[in-house]
Amino acid sequence: MMSIDRYAVFGHPINHSQSPFIHRCFAKQTGQTLTYEAIDVPPENFDRALADFLAHKGRGLNCTVPLKELAFQKMDQLTERARFSKAVNTIIVQLDGTLLGDNTDGVGLVTDLVNNHQVTLHNARILILGAGGAARGIIGPIMAQLPASLYIANRTVSKAEKLALEFAQTGSIIGCGFDDLAGFSFDIILNATSASLSNQLPPLPDDLVHSASCCYDLAYANTATAFVKWAKAQGAAQCLDGLGMLVEQAAEAFYQWRQIRPDTQKVIAQLEAKRKIG
Ligand code: NDP
Repeated sequence: MMSIDRYAVFGHPINHSQSPFIHRCFAKQTGQTLTYEAIDVPPENFDRALADFLAHKGRGLNCTVPLKELAFQKMDQLTERARFSKAVNTIIVQLDGTLLGDNTDGVGLVTDLVNNHQVTLHNARILILGAGGAARGIIGPIMAQLPASLYIANRTVSKAEKLALEFAQTGSIIGCGFDDLAGFSFDIILNATSASLSNQLPPLPDDLVHSASCCYDLAYANTATAFVKWAKAQGAAQCLDGLGMLVEQAAEAFYQWRQIRPDTQKVIAQLEAKRKIG
């Protein structure tokens, strides 16, 4: 009997994950025969869950909060973008059974901005809010687009300064606190803090936004996030959330596993329709 390739997302909690819906859509659309499930894996069970998954036809995994840094430590090999991110959101089980860790978050964000929303990163003045795992994952792909400058502002200033230093060889990057942003404005502001998840907003000075600015919250929700609401009130030209990034990072993972690129537009439209009805 032919076995069906098995894929899954590990996370904790995982019940609200959209990844099974997204990957099943991709599989149907591209005629790929596979299964994709969501598995609740607390960090202390990661090793056991991974071994069990691999022993039962597991061909590839996504890892989400709080497992990305843990997955990073368990890989046999890493892609360059995963090595820079120090986090793995996609695991590829190679033909010899070894595990290749990748990070598709940054490319997912850049693809959403550039292809889906026609945002130009080249020569732009870009601000990232936050200096956690998501911020680390997006810096490399953003710098590859050759922006004019990149500021990273964080509540814990030392973390922003450390990140800026770590990526200094990729271009002009300044790490700072939120207060240091007073008097500056940016073409693109990316909220990579987790503040929106608790309906909060980082303490941002006025005048960060100009009339052509694009504001993008990596978080997404069924209704406008606190940051998207703030961006609208500031008069930003584009006020976006991370739904497109979610689909694009998944598409890149799917490509790494199956060497076929799904049509993301259809899936983004389906998720947009789903969230309108709550
Ligand atoms: P981390 O926990 O690694 O980092 C959280 C960051 O948010 C830190 O910089 C922290 O600052 C900051 N922060 C938290 N609360 C506040 C607050 N109230 N005010 C100001 N700063 C705050 O989280 P991640 O980096 O993994 O995730 C960040 C966001 O990105 C989440 O919303 C997540 O959902 C989203 N994301 C979206 C993806 C997508 O596909 N759309 C993919 C990956 C992430 P400090 O250092 O001072 O604690």
